[in-house]
Amino acid sequence: MTLSVRDRAVRAAVEHGLLSPAEPVTALLDTAGIRASAAALTSAFAAVTDAPVLHAFAVKACPLVPVLRLLHEAGLGAEVASPGELALARAAGVPAARTVLDSPAKTPEELRHALALGIAVNADNLQELARLDALVAARPTASPLGLRVNPQVGAGTIDALSTATPTSKFGVALRDEGAREAVVQAYLDRPWLTRLHTHTGSQGIPLALMAEGVAAGYALAEEINAKAGRQQIDTFDIGGGLPVNFASDEETPTHAEYARLLAATVPGLFDGRYALVTEFGRSLLAKHGTVLARVEYTKTSGGRPIAVTHAGVQIAARTVYVPGAWPLRILAYDAEGRRRTGDEVVQDVAGPACFAGDLLATGRALPPLRPGDVVAVPDTGAYYFAHHYAYNSLPRPAVHGFTPTDDGSIAFSTVRPTQSLDEIVAESGGAHADALVRAPAPDAAMEA
Ligand SMILES: *Cc1c(COP(=O)(O)O)cnc(C)c1O
Repeated sequence: MTLSVRDRAVRAAVEHGLLSPAEPVTALLDTAGIRASAAALTSAFAAVTDAPVLHAFAVKACPLVPVLRLLHEAGLGAEVASPGELALARAAGVPAARTVLDSPAKTPEELRHALALGIAVNADNLQELARLDALVAARPTASPLGLRVNPQVGAGTIDALSTATPTSKFGVALRDEGAREAVVQAYLDRPWLTRLHTHTGSQGIPLALMAEGVAAGYALAEEINAKAGRQQIDTFDIGGGLPVNFASDEETPTHAEYARLLAATVPGLFDGRYALVTEFGRSLLAKHGTVLARVEYTKTSGGRPIAVTHAGVQIAARTVYVPGAWPLRILAYDAEGRRRTGDEVVQDVAGPACFAGDLLATGRALPPLRPGDVVAVPDTGAYYFAHHYAYNSLPRPAVHGFTPTDDGSIAFSTVRPTQSLDEIVAESGGAHADALVRAPAPDAAMEA
């Protein structure tokens, strides 16, 4: 039996001691896999249009500087939605001209900073446009500026990730009374407003609904350009949201399928009059991340076998709290990192946190697990281990990139070390231990 790249990486990770009693949970990123997804995305759109396309990776999906650097070198930009994400993109060397700022709650200071840097900004609403008016009037900026609209085309299977519902908090709700007219007028009043942005949602949105959202935005852009008598909107940002298959290793749907569907649904958007921006996150990273965790104990409770592992809510908050919407596969390995075979037993796979719901899987058929075994949780490269949840003060796990080498071995590099206990204490107010037991120092203003 030939081993998959993942099986080889698990084996090598165990041999390299990346997983140990001292570090019982760790995460792996498949460097070549990430590169391949970036290349597939780029060629998917190049196959359907000659227009310039900026693929701005949604930093939210995997906010790790080495990942952003890798994607930058692969030709991608960055979509950021907070000062922290912008700082990560800058630390990775993503140029301002390849960075897009979207967020529903940008402060005046964030807007000023983005315009000073020349980063593209998509305003979320008409109040934000009024703030941009003042900033644009005060100082010339290189920032391309746009507006996010909500085409209100409806929800997918996961409400929390559906951004184009009738009452979504994002963008200007186009079908609300008077909204479309107000948006058209907002563009006609602002010759510098040259972009239109729409993002219909993430995991759980059918491709056809995503394309419908883009089509609604495109119709608006055409209307505005016709009324303006020129190609005022010269760039269309279609957002991200390509769903990921969590049920197997198959990558479906593909970026190429989506690009072809868009080109067939909205041909005018691809005929060269509009530059394009995309903001994919999950679809670029999810398949390339794997969590590895040691099994600490195995027990039965009410007859149900339970493997107590070190991977739980701290690396998979969504799966633990909303298991129906976010099922994850679990793969069983022995203590040496070899795939476990043998008759499967229906069991629960629990995490280390102190609440009963901290389960990565319930009633899952897996080979019997033993203490010291390793469970692998694939498809966790986006919105999982990089989205640590600090329950029980569990440390952020290390993240290692891996690459198969020519001699058949696996090379690892540290993307992020495990969070230390000192770091946990420091971020938990360790430097202010007396803050609540000492009388506060008199306020300088009161003394004066
Ligand atoms: C979250 C988000 C994305 C990325 O979504 P994915 O499902 O990870 O592709 C892109 N654009 C905006 C505005 C977002 O909020």
